[in-house]
Amino acid sequence: MKASSVLLIYTGGTIGMVHDGVSGSLIPFDLRHIYDVMPELKRLPVTIDFVSLDVPIDSSDVTPAVWERLAGIIEVNYPDFDGFVVMHGTDTMAYTASALSFMLENLGKPVILTGSQLPLGTLRTDARENLITAVEIAASLANDAPRLPEVAVYFESKLMRGNRTTKYSTENFDAFDSPNHPVLAEAGIHILYNSTAILQEPAGPFTVHRRMSDRGGVVPVFPGISPDLVSGVLGVESLEAVILQTYGSGNIPRQDWLLNALEAAVHRGVAVVNVTQCSRGFVEQGLYENSRRLTGLGVIGGADMTLEAALAKTMHLLALGCRSEAFHRAMTASLRGELSPV
Ligand code: ASP
Repeated sequence: MKASSVLLIYTGGTIGMVHDGVSGSLIPFDLRHIYDVMPELKRLPVTIDFVSLDVPIDSSDVTPAVWERLAGIIEVNYPDFDGFVVMHGTDTMAYTASALSFMLENLGKPVILTGSQLPLGTLRTDARENLITAVEIAASLANDAPRLPEVAVYFESKLMRGNRTTKYSTENFDAFDSPNHPVLAEAGIHILYNSTAILQEPAGPFTVHRRMSDRGGVVPVFPGISPDLVSGVLGVESLEAVILQTYGSGNIPRQDWLLNALEAAVHRGVAVVNVTQCSRGFVEQGLYENSRRLTGLGVIGGADMTLEAALAKTMHLLALGCRSEAFHRAMTASLRGELSPV
């Protein structure tokens, strides 16, 4: 049986930081020296190849152009590797994982994002375990086929569907959660896969959608939200879709000016998607009086999607040219396991 092969894609972030031999400060490491920093990687029964962004970034600087580059790297190398590991900063990892899940349609191989809370070059780092296990999972085959045909995040012993994750801790090693979908695998002494939670092998051909639209936006509701702020965002001429981050099961302040502003936006062709500010549970428009009129106005209930997934899905659907009814249908359907059917 041939050894599995994994492409390691380095984008930057804390995971790639080591102490500079001269100054002692933390600096991004040079991927060419990965085996000096992590000799353990050589012991894995996996063929590993490496590629890096030209300029590694703090993931706070991630843009759709970076996602396009990552999707392009995976597309070009897809036939040659059994799996892919993306080393990424934690701050926007859930956004990138969500974006890639939509950009890579009919993905038949694992794409695992991982990072760390402490730099690779520090004594108590979590980078080593995260990276080694992510590579092991990316290389894992079942009956000679990749075991995990989806984009996932591996962090502190949990493998999670990428578009279900959110970063919830700046402090703990256990920094990510998948509040509305069970973990896909847990790494203890053995890596235990939860096969019922993992997506099925895709039926269609692998297709990469590199473009993401920049015509989406986000409006969080909060006590005291002003008409000026809402009309400022909804009035942006190029806006084609907005994610409304609401209270609880999808509630907004019951104010005529807000309902009128949403109605006018929908009338202008702007899609409005309702996601909850709660991390667990889903939007149920009409459960309370404060959300009852939203469905009638054409506001789309975002079920249990995270903000990160809803935004990435919006950018993807708009780039595909999906509008009005088609956008509504796709937004409320599960395209990559990003929402639970109600
Ligand atoms: N700011 C860093 C980043 O997201 C934090 C991290 O890597 O954990 O790139």
